[in-house]
Amino acid sequence: MRATQLYAPTLREFPAEAELISHKLMMKAGLIRKAAGGIYSYLPLGWRTIRKIEKIIREEMDAKGGQEIMMPITQPAEIWHESGRWAVYGPEMMRLKDRHGREFALGPTHEEMITSLIRSEVKSYKQLPLMLYQIQNKYRDEIRPRFGLMRSREFIMKDLYSFDKDVDGMNISYQKMYDAYDKIFTRCGLKFRPVEADNGAIGGGHSHEFTVLAPSGESSIAYCESCNYAASDEKAELKIIQAEVEEMKPLEKVSTPDCHTIEMVKDYLQVPIEKTIKAVAFQDDDGRLILAFVRGDHEVNEIKILNAVDGALHLHMAEESAITEANGCAGFMSPIGIKDGTIIVVDSSVMEMYNAVAGANEVDKHFINVTPKRDFDSSKLIITDIRMIKEGDPCPHCGQPVKMTRGIEVGQVFTLGNKYSKSLNATFLDENGKEKFFEMGCYGIGVGRTMAATIEQNNDEHGIIWPRAIAPFEVVVVPVNAKNADQLEYSEKIYDELKAAGIDTILDDRKERAGVKFNDCDLIGYPIRITISPKTINEGTIEIKIRKTGEMINVNREEYKDKVIELLKNL
Ligand code: ATP
Ligand code: MG
Repeated sequence: MRATQLYAPTLREFPAEAELISHKLMMKAGLIRKAAGGIYSYLPLGWRTIRKIEKIIREEMDAKGGQEIMMPITQPAEIWHESGRWAVYGPEMMRLKDRHGREFALGPTHEEMITSLIRSEVKSYKQLPLMLYQIQNKYRDEIRPRFGLMRSREFIMKDLYSFDKDVDGMNISYQKMYDAYDKIFTRCGLKFRPVEADNGAIGGGHSHEFTVLAPSGESSIAYCESCNYAASDEKAELKIIQAEVEEMKPLEKVSTPDCHTIEMVKDYLQVPIEKTIKAVAFQDDDGRLILAFVRGDHEVNEIKILNAVDGALHLHMAEESAITEANGCAGFMSPIGIKDGTIIVVDSSVMEMYNAVAGANEVDKHFINVTPKRDFDSSKLIITDIRMIKEGDPCPHCGQPVKMTRGIEVGQVFTLGNKYSKSLNATFLDENGKEKFFEMGCYGIGVGRTMAATIEQNNDEHGIIWPRAIAPFEVVVVPVNAKNADQLEYSEKIYDELKAAGIDTILDDRKERAGVKFNDCDLIGYPIRITISPKTINEGTIEIKIRKTGEMINVNREEYKDKVIELLKNL
């Protein structure tokens, strides 16, 4: 490719709306352009990287026995009704009607589609295991599309689905995909970490998220340096904190004027925050009130609450009227005196407290000396771990204090069990002629998000620093002055030689000033720049610049190719 023919419109400035460096650089370097909120075109340089990531993904999927297919983006509502997810998916699902009024969705994911695809045709255990995948646009009407390709509404995903005859088989497929993901993100040149994850609305068994470590990431990860434990903060389990046993004092109602927050209450009553019980009131999509209680210094984990409460799909902050209706009092809540039938979830560690402070369900009143074991009616409570992990909490595996870091979820692997095969009635005959539901798994990678995450991790004040494997071009050859026939001719030769050696090379033959071209090379982030200058013509020395380190090396004509090949191996 020659730069004179390349469509790569660069910008002088970062677009004002872009917050993340990856978004800014992708716009400035001419990799993508916005069509609407969360919807983008990929320009040639961006698309080349996308294609390279896809190629790595394809190779690793195929190596594990995956077969590529292509399913429709437009999915009939019927299969979503069968699985029950038409109602569950909510406003994130982009829905449309055809001219006859039939309902469709633009696929946010394809469990229903693939299960309905194979259910009438895969009939015997002999056809298993089966792994099918596609790389395709997905649609999710995200509530806050932002950060460019990181959280968009139309995005490219690789999704593979595995079908096995039993749970053991499913776990083998899961491990294969886990290993493949490890290879894919390693080959992409990313620093990442697989972390234990929650299965979320997709349901099923266990799951890992592959998370690229970056401070700008939306995921928070707890990890332990003593053992190998790592989990998303939503998933990270917490052991019960056993409070020191105390003599139980009698429950007493005290006045706490204008103390609406746990901080105010603790200051007013002069008690340590660990001796307070904090309430958070939610409502689910059906309007059911869900009251959650954790120790004052802890935070509630909404995912754990959703997992604990049957049938709850999303949580919203509760309306004051709902709280009052349940005999509660916003800002002064506790389980004591709440109307029967209210869903109350109490963190296990709260049940171990002695002589604590909790709301009295009355304006400006709190109880002191609350001992939940004695004062809460545990038959009316859901008692479980609903706490959000924080730095310093004990690792659930080895007990050492955990650390927290941030990351970008680029892929996720799930076991699904028979959740979808059952609801969509997809069965096969086993060795004994018995009808069984498939044991499934699903495995996604965000291709555009992987590209964005790579830039988050690899950039400097001059621009992108591509890892060689997914760089739009590996090497750029720059004649300092392309108007000079000797330099241009020399550069063409080098360009041809590198291409012949299988190196993905671009020739910057633009008749721009050298400084402009150098800046563009740094902005776009080609791993290696070869500069052809008068010195090259006169003395035969070729300058090689390594984008990542800024290092310049001068080599002679005979050596340069081997040097480039050698350098690329480590970039
Ligand atoms: P998130 O929690 O970030 O919303 P998710 O867990 O809902 O993502 P999955 O259903 O696991 O996403 O999808 C598989 C992969 O698709 C994700 O790991 C991510 O890389 C990518 N992905 C998901 N949503 C988006 C989006 N809105 N924009 C770009 N990529 C996305
Ligand atoms: Mg996910």
